[in-house]
Amino acid sequence: MNPLPRHDHYIAGEWTAPAEGGYFASVNPATAEPWYEAARGTAADVDRAVGAARTAFEDPRWRDLSQTRRGRLLRNLGDLIGEHAERLARTETLDNGKLLREMRAQLAGLPEYFHYYAGLADKIQGEVIPGAGRELLNYTLREPVGVVGAITPWNSPLLLTTTKLAPALAAGNTVVVKPSEHTSASLLALAPLFEEAGFPPGVVNVVTGYGPEAGGPLTEHDGVSKVTFTGSSGTGRRIARICADRLIGCTLELGGKSPNIIFPDADLGSAAMGVIAGIFAAAGQTCVAGSRVLVHREVYDEILERVTARAATIRIGDPLAETTELGPLAIAEQLEKVESYVELGQAEGGKVVCGGRRPETGLDGYFYSPTVFTGTDNGMRICQEEIFGPVATVMPFGSEEEALAIANDSAYGLAAGVWTRDVNRVHRMAARLEAGTVWANTYRSMSPMSPRAGFKTSGMGTEHGTEVIREYTRLKSVWINTSEEPAGDPFILRS
Ligand code: NAD
Repeated sequence: MNPLPRHDHYIAGEWTAPAEGGYFASVNPATAEPWYEAARGTAADVDRAVGAARTAFEDPRWRDLSQTRRGRLLRNLGDLIGEHAERLARTETLDNGKLLREMRAQLAGLPEYFHYYAGLADKIQGEVIPGAGRELLNYTLREPVGVVGAITPWNSPLLLTTTKLAPALAAGNTVVVKPSEHTSASLLALAPLFEEAGFPPGVVNVVTGYGPEAGGPLTEHDGVSKVTFTGSSGTGRRIARICADRLIGCTLELGGKSPNIIFPDADLGSAAMGVIAGIFAAAGQTCVAGSRVLVHREVYDEILERVTARAATIRIGDPLAETTELGPLAIAEQLEKVESYVELGQAEGGKVVCGGRRPETGLDGYFYSPTVFTGTDNGMRICQEEIFGPVATVMPFGSEEEALAIANDSAYGLAAGVWTRDVNRVHRMAARLEAGTVWANTYRSMSPMSPRAGFKTSGMGTEHGTEVIREYTRLKSVWINTSEEPAGDPFILRS
C-alpha cells in the first residue's frame, strides 16, 4: 500500500516538520478511509509559529506597508482563491463530507470576503478628539493588536478561517491558524497562496494538530495578543478562561439550538423548505441549524406532513455527486453522538416520525438519515443540547407570546427563523428573540457585510461587517501640548 501524503506545518513561508516528529491521519468521512497525514503540532511548533508571526509583525515590510497596499494584498488573495476555488472545494468535501455543491458555493463566496476587507483596510482610522482645549491636541490611533491566534472547527474550514483572517490582516495583525484536526487539508492547500498574494513570510502561519496539544499552547502563548475561536461552547469556555487569566481579548463564535418558527399566515411551502434548509442542509452540521421547529397549532399537521415527506426523499450518498442532497457526518464520533441523542430523545418520550437510523448507501462512511421528532417538550435534553446533526424536533405553539417563550427558553442565542406574511409580527419577533441573527422568510443567509454574533452561550464579540475591526485593533490616545507657554502647576490635572 502506498503511504499517505504527508503535510507539515506552514511557518514563516516554509513547510516545517513537527518538532516532535508526529503525524496523524485525516479520514474521508464518506468512505471512512484515511487519505492524508498532517503534522501533529505541539507547544514547540506553536512557539516557532508565534515567533515567526511576531517577527513578521515587527518587519517593516509588513509594519510599514500602507493600509491601501495591505488592502491590495487581501484583494490579490481573494482573486487567487477564486482561481483555485474548485480544487479547494473538492479538498473540503473529501475532508468534511459536505456536499461539493455546498463547498463550491462557499468557495465562490470567499473572494468577496477578502475583497470586502481589502476595501476596509484603508478606512481603519483614529479620530481627533475635540474639547481638549486649544493648546492640547488629542487624537486616537487604531493599532493592530499583534499576533492573533485563530482556532477553527471542521464544518466550514476555509469560510470560518476567512471570517477571522481577512479582518485580522486588514487591521495589520499577523496570524497563526490552528485548523480542526479533522479538516486541515484545505488551509494547507491555501497556505502557499499567502506569499503568492504578496504577504511577507510569517504574516500567516498554519500549525495543525489536536485541540489540547496545539490549540491549548496557542491560547496560552505569551506572544499571542488575541484569540479568535469558532467551535463548541465547551471549548469556547475553556479558551475564554485562559484569555481572562492572561487579560487578552477573545472572540468566540460557538454553538446553537436555534428555533425556526412558523406562523399560520406563512407561505407554508416555503416555510417547509426553510425547515429542510435549516436542519438538513450540511447534515445539520451548521452552528445556525434550525433544530427546534416551532409550528402554530393551526398548521402543525400540514407542516409536519410536508417536512417529513420531503425529508424521506432526500438523496443520501457520495457528497462529490452532483445529485446528492445529504452527505455523511464529518467524523465517526459525530455519528455516535447523533445516534445517542436519538436514543435519548426516545427515552425522554419523543417519537421518531422520520429517519432515526443509519441509511443504506453502499458506502462505509458516517451517514445518518434525516430525522424528525414529535411529542417533545422544550425542556427535554434533545431540545436544549446541540446535537450538530440532521435531527429536528417539531413542537406546537398557540400564540406569538408562547412561541417567543419557547424560542427564548434556551442557553443558546445564535440564530432564529420566523415565517409569516405579517410584517408587523416580523418586527415584533425580531425585537424580542434572543438571538444574534434573525431571519424572516429565509434561513441561513449570510454576507461579509452583515455582523454575526452569538448571544448567551453562543458567543462573545462579533464577526463579519465593519464592527469586527474593533476586535482586531486597540485604541491609543495621544496628547500633544502645542503651547510655547511655561509648564503650569504640576500638582493639578491638565485638561
Ligand atoms: P470543537 O470545540 O471541538 O473544536 C473547535 C476547534 O477547537 C478545533 O480546532 C479543536 O482542535 C480546537 N480545540 C479543542 N479543544 C481545545 C482546547 N482545549 N484548546 C484550544 N483549542 C481546542 O468544535 P468542533 O466540533 O470542531 O465544531 C463544531 C462546533 O462549532 C459546534 O458547536 C458548532 O455549533 C460550532 N460552530 C459555531 C459557529 C459560529 O459561527 N457560531 C460556526 C461553525 C461551528
